[in-house]
Amino acid sequence: MHILKEKQKLTSLLGTYRKKNLRIGFVPTMGALHQGHISLVEQALKLTDKVVLSIFVNPTQFDNQEDLKQYPRDLEKDLKSLQKFQEDIIVFSPLPSEIYGENIASEKFDFDGLELEMEGKFRKGHFDGVGTVVKKFLEIIEPEKAFFGEKDYQQLLIIKKLAEKLQLKTEIYGCPIDRESSGLARSSRNERLTASERADAAFLYRILQKVKEDFGTKSVLDITQEVRSKFKENGQFQLEYFEIADAESLKPVQEPKKDRKYRAFIAAFLGDIRLIDNIALN
Ligand code: AMP
Repeated sequence: MHILKEKQKLTSLLGTYRKKNLRIGFVPTMGALHQGHISLVEQALKLTDKVVLSIFVNPTQFDNQEDLKQYPRDLEKDLKSLQKFQEDIIVFSPLPSEIYGENIASEKFDFDGLELEMEGKFRKGHFDGVGTVVKKFLEIIEPEKAFFGEKDYQQLLIIKKLAEKLQLKTEIYGCPIDRESSGLARSSRNERLTASERADAAFLYRILQKVKEDFGTKSVLDITQEVRSKFKENGQFQLEYFEIADAESLKPVQEPKKDRKYRAFIAAFLGDIRLIDNIALN
């Protein structure tokens, strides 16, 4: 395993791979790695020869400075979980100055409205920060393929849009959500939950499964009302949003059409931990 902090060292290593006609995959992460990240690397290694996994807690995508401060960081542990990939993985873990220089700020993007829905409403500037850092990484690494989780489905669509608008040659791949046995979507933030909160958090997935069951037989309005009342009954979570939206445009839907794909999205706080999840409905 190669562990690099400088982009120049990274590009020169990648140059040696390119000379051998090896294909480069890219998996961006913020560290605190879990099986969800590992599943992305496994997918990447099916389709490419060498995988760059970045570990970078990107300051510009946090609207909440406390969340940035509290974000779990444990490089030693992360490296252990990647050891099994041996020489096929390159860990790129730069300092903010290596990526941003002196000016830690976001570029402004237009993602054709995708950035205005859901997470965009509740996390101001978040997708400008994500777009800025992913663009920088893609320009440094120039991977053939980059892999993103459907866990952050809105982010996945936004990165696809970014690649399309900038006419990047990198293909963007979406990978399925990896879940704990309870159904809870794996997330670095789960580490901050107590064992009992972690068990309680599976409530979000149970809600989404019920929504999927009801979709097509009940109206979107009725489903939404039921979700809200279940949150009230439960009492532990503070629901930030629940939405059923078109899987391509992310526009909320009232009357689903037969030939369109839809997804349900949820964001809720358990204490001060913000959890998100989503599910394909048809
Ligand atoms: P993060 O480190 O949370 O920024 O996530 C890095 C990448 O891993 C993103 O593309 C996420 O969507 C993806 N990811 C995070 N959690 C999961 C999961 N449970 N299943 C699949 N992908 C995930």
